[in-house]
Amino acid sequence: MSTLTEQIEKRRTFAIISHPDAGKTTLTEKLLLYGGAINLAGSVKGKRTAKHAVSDWMEIEKQRGISVTSSVLQFKYDGYCINILDTPGHQDFSEDTYRTLMAADSAVMVIDASKGVENQTKKLFKVCVMRHIPIITFINKMDRDAQNPFDLLEDIENVLGINTCPMNWPIGSGKEFKGVYDRKKGKILSYTANNGQREVEQEEIPLDDPDLDSKLFYGQKDTLFDDIDLLDGAGNEFDIDMVRSGQLTPVFFGSALTNFGVEPFLQEFLQLTTAPLAREAGGEMIAPDSDFFSAFVFKIQANMNKAHRDRVAFMRICSGKFDKNMEVYHVQGDRKMKLSQPQQIMAQEREVVEEAYAGDIIGVFDPGMFSIGDTIVSPGQKFAFKGIPTFAPEHFALVRQKDTMKRKQFVKGMNQIAQEGAIQIFHEPESGMEEVIVGVVGVLQFDVLKYRLENEYNVEIIMENTPYQFIRWITSEVDYKALDLASDTKVVADFRDNKLLLFRSEWSIDWALEHNKGLTLQDFGNAE
Ligand code: GDP
Repeated sequence: MSTLTEQIEKRRTFAIISHPDAGKTTLTEKLLLYGGAINLAGSVKGKRTAKHAVSDWMEIEKQRGISVTSSVLQFKYDGYCINILDTPGHQDFSEDTYRTLMAADSAVMVIDASKGVENQTKKLFKVCVMRHIPIITFINKMDRDAQNPFDLLEDIENVLGINTCPMNWPIGSGKEFKGVYDRKKGKILSYTANNGQREVEQEEIPLDDPDLDSKLFYGQKDTLFDDIDLLDGAGNEFDIDMVRSGQLTPVFFGSALTNFGVEPFLQEFLQLTTAPLAREAGGEMIAPDSDFFSAFVFKIQANMNKAHRDRVAFMRICSGKFDKNMEVYHVQGDRKMKLSQPQQIMAQEREVVEEAYAGDIIGVFDPGMFSIGDTIVSPGQKFAFKGIPTFAPEHFALVRQKDTMKRKQFVKGMNQIAQEGAIQIFHEPESGMEEVIVGVVGVLQFDVLKYRLENEYNVEIIMENTPYQFIRWITSEVDYKALDLASDTKVVADFRDNKLLLFRSEWSIDWALEHNKGLTLQDFGNAE
C-alpha cells in the first residue's frame, strides 16, 4: 500500500486540445497503447478501438439530444497514473469543453503540421492561458507534407502569444520525412513508416555519424545543421519555470498515426508537468496531500441514462482520498451526504470507483442539488473553491414558449438547464422571462435545449435567430441606462443580474468603448 503522498505524486491530469481532425483521438489512442488502460470503457470490450467507442457514444448522445461528454480516460505508464480529459470539437463544442480545462493541471495542444494553429485551438488556448497551466505542443502529421517548422513556431507565437521552445526538430516531412533531431540527446531519431504499432524499430543516429549523408535525403543534413545553429543561437532557451507557468510551450514534432515520436513525447511530458498542485480556496492554499477530501464540480451531465433521467455531476478531486462509502459535506448546500454511485469513466460503461485520489475525476449521481463550481469536502471542512467563470457564448437565439399556459414549466426548464450550464440565459434588464435570449458556445446546444424542453418539461418553444454575435460583461461601475450605444447594441442581464452588452460586430464593441469613458468589458463572467 502506498501512502497518500505517493499516490498523488504519481498522478498527472491533463486535457488534450485541438482543432477537429488534427489528430487528438489518434494521439490519445497511441498514448493508451503504452499504458495499461485502467478505465477505458468501450474500447477494451469487443476489441473496438477507443476512437469508435468514443464517437459511438457521441452519436448515441446526439440521438438522445443530450449534451456531449468530454470523456476521461485513465491509464498507467511507468508507475504514473495518467488522466486524460478529452475535449470535444466540431459542433459538439460547448461550454463544457471550456470547463473541462478548469479541471486539468496541464494541456496538450495537438496541431496539424500542414495547417498550423486553427480556430478551435485558439478558443481553448485562451482558457489555458487564463489558468497559467503548462501547455505542451505536439505538431502532428509530419508524415504528410508539412509547413516549414519555423513558420509553424511563428504561427503559434503570433496567433496564440506564447513563446515556443522546440524539444525536437523535424527532418523533412511527407515522403521525405526522415525523423526528428532530439535536442536534449543530441541524436536523430530516425523515422521508418510502420503500421502504428507499439513496438517500433527506431534507430538513434548521432550527428557525427559518418554515414549521415547517406541516411538522409540530399540537402537535409545541411538544412538540419543550419536549423540547429539557428535554434541554439536565436531560439528561446528552455526554462522549466516558464513552462510550468504557461509562458513557454515545449514543442514536439511527430506523427501520431505512424506512432512516431509518441513515446518520447509521453516520457518528456511526465517530466515537464507536475503532480496536482495546491488549489486556492477562500484565500487558503489546499495541498493535494491534505488529510481531508475536497473536490469541485466542473460539469453536470443530464440524462446519461434515458430510463432514469438522472444527472451526473463530475468532480475533480483536489485533495485527499475518496472512498466509496465515506461521508462528505456539500458546502453550497450546507449538508452532509454520501456521494451516491460514484463512478469513474464516462463512456458507455460506468465503473463504480472504490477509491480515488487528488487529481482524479469522479462522476456521481446528482438528484439536482449540485451546481457547476460547487465544493464538496470532508465533514468538518467549510472552505469553497473559487467558482468556474462563465464563458462568453457565441450564438444567440430568442426563445419563447408556444403555449403561454405552460409558463411555469417553461421557466423551470429553462432555469434548470441553465443551472446545469448547458445554456446561458439573458433577458432585458428589469423584465421577466417573457422573452429570453439564450446564448450557447456551440450550436448543438440549441437542439439539446429544444429536445429537453419538449421531452422533460413538456414545453414547446419557438426559437428565432438573432443577429448578435458577441456578448461582453460590463465590469465597470456605470449606469447602463446612461450608456451611449450604437443602435444595434443591446443591454441585457444574466440570472445574477449582471449587466451585459450584446453586439452584432466587433466594430460596435469598439464604438461602445470609444463613446463611453470608463466603460470596461470582459468576455467571461466572473465566478461568484
Ligand atoms: P481528431 O478530430 O483531432 O480527434 O482527429 P483524429 O485523430 O480523428 O484524426 C483525423 C484524421 O487524421 C484521421 O483520418 C487520422 O487517421 C488522421 N491522422 C491522425 N494523425 C495522423 C498522422 O500523424 N499522420 C497522418 N497522415 N494522418 C493522421
